[in-house]
Amino acid sequence: MLFGILVLCFLFSLYLIWLKVIYYRYSQNSGSNPWLQLNKKRDRRMCQDHLYPWQSEHENYFDDVRALLVTAHPDDECMFFAPTILRLLQSSASVHLLCLSSGNYYNQGDLRQKELRDSCNVLGIPASQVTIVDHKELPDDPSVEWNTHIISSMVLKQVKASSINMVLTFDGRGVSGHANHIAIYRALSYLASTRKIPDVYIISKS
Ligand SMILES: [Zn+2]
Repeated sequence: MLFGILVLCFLFSLYLIWLKVIYYRYSQNSGSNPWLQLNKKRDRRMCQDHLYPWQSEHENYFDDVRALLVTAHPDDECMFFAPTILRLLQSSASVHLLCLSSGNYYNQGDLRQKELRDSCNVLGIPASQVTIVDHKELPDDPSVEWNTHIISSMVLKQVKASSINMVLTFDGRGVSGHANHIAIYRALSYLASTRKIPDVYIISKS
C-alpha cells in the first residue's frame, strides 16, 4: 500500500515537472509564435473559409477572444493542446476549459481531476474557468458511444454562460484515435454546421 502511494507520488511529480518543462520552453520562446510554428498547417477551420486568425494583420486580434477548449479526459489539455493554450494566453485571450469526463477509466477519477486542476494552474488557465463534467452517459471509456446531443447541450450551455466566441477541439480522428475524442468532434461539427456556436478550430496530428 505504502509502496503504491510512493509510486503514485513519484509519477505525479514527474507529470508536474513535465508540465513545467513545457511551460518554460514556451515562455523562453515568447518572441516567436509557437502556435503558428506548431499548428500553422495543422489547424483547420471547421465551418468558415476565410483566413486563419493567426494570419491576421491585426496585432490585437486575440484581445477580445474568449476561447473554449473542449476535451474528453484529464491530461488531454496538456498532451494535445498545451502549445495552443499557451499561445492564446500569451496573446491576452481568455481561455476556458470544458472536460467532459473525470477520467475514471481506472477508477482514479478523483486523482485525475486534481491533476487536471494542477495542470491548468501550471498552464495559466484560471480555476474559475475550468469545468469538469461527471455524467453517467459520458464515461471515460472508448467502448461507449458518447451521445451527440448530450455533448452539444453541455457545450452550448458553456458557450452561453461564458460568452465564448472561439471553440477548439480534436480533429475527426480524435488526434489519438480515442472514440471519446471523436465523439466531441462529431458533436461540434453538428453545432458548427447548424451555426449554433461561434468559430470552431480543430487540432490535427498531421
Ligand atoms: Zn483523451
